Amino acid sequence: MVIVLSKNISSHDKEQLRSFLSERGFAVREQVFGDDDILGATGKGSVDIRELSLLPGVERVAQTSKPYELASRETKSEDTIVTIGPVKIGGSRISVIAGPCAIESREQIMETAALVRESGAVMLRGGAYKPRTSPYAFQGLGMKGLEYMKEAGDAYGMPIVTEVVSPELAQQMMPLTDMFQIGARNMQNFELLKKVGSLGKPVLLKRGPSATIEEWLLSAEYLLASGTKDVILCERGIRTFETYTRNTLDISAIPVVRKLSHLPVIVDPSHAVGIRAKVSPVALAAIAAGANGLTVEVHPRPEEALSDGPQSLYPEQFEKLMRDIEALAPVVGKELLRTPMPQTAERILVQGGFVHAEEKQATHEHGEAKNTLRIAFSGESGAYADQAIIRAFGEDSERMAVSSFKSVFDAVLEGKARFGMVPIENSLAGSVHENYDLFIRYPDIAIVGEIKLRIVHCLIGAKNASLETIRIVRSHPQGFAQCKEFLDKHPEWTLEPTNDTAGAVASIARENLTDTAAIAGEVAAQLYGLKIIKEGIETNPLNYTRFFIISRREVGNEMEVPSLLHTGAALPPGYESQVPNKASIVFSTPNEPGSLFACLKILSERGINMSKLESRPIPGKPWRYMFYVDISIPEEERIFDLAMEELKTKTEDFRFLGAYRASL
Ligand code: PEP
Ligand code: MN
Repeated sequence: MVIVLSKNISSHDKEQLRSFLSERGFAVREQVFGDDDILGATGKGSVDIRELSLLPGVERVAQTSKPYELASRETKSEDTIVTIGPVKIGGSRISVIAGPCAIESREQIMETAALVRESGAVMLRGGAYKPRTSPYAFQGLGMKGLEYMKEAGDAYGMPIVTEVVSPELAQQMMPLTDMFQIGARNMQNFELLKKVGSLGKPVLLKRGPSATIEEWLLSAEYLLASGTKDVILCERGIRTFETYTRNTLDISAIPVVRKLSHLPVIVDPSHAVGIRAKVSPVALAAIAAGANGLTVEVHPRPEEALSDGPQSLYPEQFEKLMRDIEALAPVVGKELLRTPMPQTAERILVQGGFVHAEEKQATHEHGEAKNTLRIAFSGESGAYADQAIIRAFGEDSERMAVSSFKSVFDAVLEGKARFGMVPIENSLAGSVHENYDLFIRYPDIAIVGEIKLRIVHCLIGAKNASLETIRIVRSHPQGFAQCKEFLDKHPEWTLEPTNDTAGAVASIARENLTDTAAIAGEVAAQLYGLKIIKEGIETNPLNYTRFFIISRREVGNEMEVPSLLHTGAALPPGYESQVPNKASIVFSTPNEPGSLFACLKILSERGINMSKLESRPIPGKPWRYMFYVDISIPEEERIFDLAMEELKTKTEDFRFLGAYRASL
């Protein structure tokens, strides 16, 4: 049983509550759980829940219909996000852990760390104590192996996860591991769960090969009830009658567990299938089914591996898998997590010699996940731009809601916000011209990043509203445009445009309306406590909005040899090491034959690809147009600069808006 305490409970009331519960036969433990302080009461006590609920300092008694409580979504409705140094697991990101099955030598773990890091893994895995089916098989390097892996993790900026097989070893392993793994064979080793849970570190809990989902969640409950609040569930295949693959990945467990529990769920495709060629397809299926991440076995030379070689990916296969995940992520409304690489590691990678890792000075700061940057967006909390900020900057970022796109540009220009997030284009409804116009009016603002967000619109109303009770629908005009087919079926509804989608939801909650609905995202419905009447009402499910991250150009910050590509504008954390591959420009052309053609020829002759060309009337100049152009950046900066120099001579009002890494 879980008792959620009031925020202002006095220590006296807390003591009274503890005695009340102990007298009735419960063991009591105080814990922080999400945003709440709770008392967890376990054991065979009995109590009148109504009496307990009325005691001073009790906010509510969370009683679930399930045998597990701390792990249940009924106790905590929002997703748990586990932080391990710079890595977060849970929410709308996909976090990939990779490494060998077992640590075999210092060289092997260093080499693997370098390879998986370069492909985008954010955590390093490797077993030092291996629970092998045969007592004659390689059992692992023990503590020495862990020391090697910690060194590799530090050198490449990756927290490490390793399996703990006995309660006695757990304490000893503490300083050398960032997350404990409980292996499938030990899922119901309750003494181990209690000991590891009490240490408070994040735990990756594998599902037992013949454990039901309920048994798995009860094992998670053991960990949570023993003290840790950070448990990640890992589906790794179960025993079925099928013997072709090593196990059978229970793919349906992913959506089931995500519904039953707030804990993140990741998938281990390697142990699930046991066959190298089948690992990547199954990994992609897991992402499509809603997994929050993966743990994948990779070996530089799998044929030489001391354990699980046949299921370990070659580095090239892992790299391809990471690229596929990056492309798939936005389809399921997620983004592949990237974390900053320590500068020393970049040097090591460039040199191509991971053995030079001695020069490591581990410049990454574990635990420095708090992000105090302020980022402005137009709308209210829960708006799509707000979600784009979370995607780019994380949940801890300070989001500043303002009331118009112009206010976003002003906030960034005046330094009230370091960055801004503005929508520029939607795949169904087209460009957001207002923002293009603002770029022209604010020459000191540059584009420094791009984010593409899949937009799923919902019709949102009061708890007792239905399609029949609705008479008015509120949303941003873009929301109406993207849901045109759905709205056309209801000509009786009056459409009321608002400044932003989340603001429409907020207004319904504020005014307590039952005849009015809003078109907005699921997050806004949750945030303002309203009901989703219908989900997925956008005309086409391939509905994406492209956002630009903007910041202020700083004079004096440009490179010594000025290239247009370096605008001097501050880059968001994690973007510093990205090489820009896309740029946006705006220009108008003289009103004479062939003038646009001459511009395009400059690009074409230098092999510069154009991904967008749009014309827009110039205000105050009837029948004259500005062209918005998105182009690729060739590997050689010089070629790009020359093209832009030449373009300037053929155009009027040329404006370079910024260079950034294209979001897939
Ligand atoms: C492992 O991750 O190396 C491992 C032994 O996995 P499991 O416990 O899922 O078999
Ligand atoms: Mn293995």
